[in-house]
Parts: sequence; structure tokens; C-alpha cells
Amino acid sequence: MKITDLFLSQEKTFSFEFFPPKDEISAVDFGINVGRLMRLSPSFVTVTYGAGGSTQARTFALVDYLQNTIGLTTVAHYTCVNATRDKVKKDLDEIRDKGIENLMLLRGDPPKGEERFKPVENGFKYASELISYVDENYNFCIAGAAYVEKHPEAESLEEDITNLKTKVNAGADYLVTQLFFNNSYYFRFIELARKHGINCRIIPGIIPITSYRQIERFTLMSSAKIPEELKVDIEANKNDPEKSYEIGIKYTINQCRELLENGAPGLHFYTLNKSRAAVEIFESL
Ligand SMILES: Cc1cc2nc3c(=O)[nH]c(=O)nc-3n(C[C@H](O)[C@H](O)[C@H](O)COP(=O)(O)OP(=O)(O)OC[C@H]3O[C@@H](n4cnc5c(N)ncnc54)[C@H](O)[C@@H]3O)c2cc1C
Repeated sequence: MKITDLFLSQEKTFSFEFFPPKDEISAVDFGINVGRLMRLSPSFVTVTYGAGGSTQARTFALVDYLQNTIGLTTVAHYTCVNATRDKVKKDLDEIRDKGIENLMLLRGDPPKGEERFKPVENGFKYASELISYVDENYNFCIAGAAYVEKHPEAESLEEDITNLKTKVNAGADYLVTQLFFNNSYYFRFIELARKHGINCRIIPGIIPITSYRQIERFTLMSSAKIPEELKVDIEANKNDPEKSYEIGIKYTINQCRELLENGAPGLHFYTLNKSRAAVEIFESL
């Protein structure tokens, strides 16, 4: 089923993002966690797409399995990295032939150590170019990425939203945001997006911070600002993992509740292939 068809009957959607497990042990773990998450009846699930050849094949195999064996509505992520028009055609024909109807189309990140993304010859420079190509040649439901605190490469939020409008005009049916911890960024973003004529659903991307180590990792890896009071609270309990976990979960439950009560069209949960936090948060909501 297309996600846009789901939207007709679900005012708010609840979705989970997975990445393809790296080895047999994590695959077993993954299976157990998907089993637990399925009990929450998600609206749909998505599978990320890595830069390497073998991880790409695992994305396609996993969406195939989750949709055709487990019976979940799935979204396959796909990027412009190494994507010549010939490769895109071959890959998307394969995805379509597996019965997958939904794609999340992205540009992808520059390789480690490089600042700028370089498209391959006969490839695509921006997600919007890939979206336009797919929209013209296929019948997929297409999602795109949005950044409530602006994409790190954009000069300003205004410029990023202007580029986002191009992405929606190119054929994106709905948007999912990069993770964020402070809802005021999401509400400001929605207001600006609507002013720019972006009228599709913009689903907030959510992740709980459940340990001090995660704070350190997010600070290094992501441009999402962590609220000071959450940082201080978790840091004060960094030697008590269970307490840090509880603080993080409580924060995320309140964050989700506020989003849903103030018009967010659902929640997209970055699971990191785990289930405990998602189950606790969704049961509580
Ligand atoms: C929900 C979500 C899922 C993701 N899943 C994956 C995944 O599975 N695999 C993966 O590798 N990465 C994934 N990413 C990360 C993503 O690939 C990176 O954030 C990447 O840096 C940007 O991708 P994009 O599709 O947003 O790019 P774009 O929309 O192309 O934007 C990239 C930059 O270019 C600018 N820009 C866009 N169009 C123009 C234009 N016409 N002219 C000038 N500037 C322009 C934008 O403002 C932005 O700064 C995901 C991100 C999100 C939010």
C-alpha cells in the first residue's frame, strides 16, 4: 500500500526506521526487536540505505522480507550516492518488481573526510533531481527529508526551505524530519514551510537519548541541539544507566505528546534496531 493511501484513513501515522543488520548475530537481535515492535501495529516501517554495495543489497532484501514475508507496509530508502541513471533504473525496477510501492529518496552524505557531495557522472546532484527522475519514470509514493534546524550545508533555514519547496515540487508526497529534541524548532519550521507553500505532511523524526554516551555521540555526529536541562540531568546520573534511561524516556514521551497535541501528523521513530525504548514510549502514548 502507498503511504499516501494510508494517509487517507490515518490522521496520524506511527512509523519505525531500521537499518539492515550487519551480521548474523545482529540479525537475530533484529528479528526479536521487530517482533516486539510489530505488536504496536506501526503504520509503516522504513529501511535505510548505506553507501557500500553489500549494505545496499541488504536494504532491498530487508524491505522485501518485511513487506512480503512479515506483511508490514515498507518504505525503501535510496540515495544519489554512485547512482547513475542506469543504476537507478536497474535498482528501482528491482524494488518495484518486489511489490514495494514507497521510497524515501535522499541525496546521501559526502564520503568521510570530504566536505561536499560530488554526484557521479550521469547522476544526480540533489535529492530533488532524483525525485524528479523517479516521479517521471515510476509510480512510487515518494518521501523526502527535511531539517527543522536546517541542513548543515545550507547557509540559512530560509535557503534550505526554498530548496525543500523544489523537492516537493519535484514530486515528494510527504516529508520526514531529521531528529530533533526541541519542539520549538519543529513548530517554527512548519510555520515557515507553510508560508513557502509546502503543504504536505511533515512527520517529525524522533529518537530518545537514553545514556550519557549517546549525548556525547549526538554532540559529535548530529547538528540537533540537545536541551541544556536534559543534558545536565543525564550527566548528573551518568553512573546510573537505569536512571539516565528513565530521564531520557520521560523527556521523549513529553516531547511526543506535545507534538501530537499540537498538530504533528504522527511520529517517525529512529529505532536504531532496538525495541525497548520504542515500546515504552508508544505504550505510554
Ligand atoms: C528522514 C531521513 C532519512 C535518511 N536516510 C538516509 C539513508 O537511508 N541513507 C543515507 O545515506 N542518508 C540518509 N539520510 C541522510 C541524508 O542523506 C543527508 O542528510 C544528506 O546530507 C542530505 O540528504 P537530502 O536528501 O536531504 O539532500 P538534499 O535535499 O539534496 O539537500 C542537501 C543540501 O543541498 C541543498 N540543496 C538542495 N537542493 C538545492 C538546489 N537546487 N540548489 C542549491 N542547494 C540545494 C539543501 O539546502 C541542503 O543543504 C537521511 C536523512 C533523513 C532526515
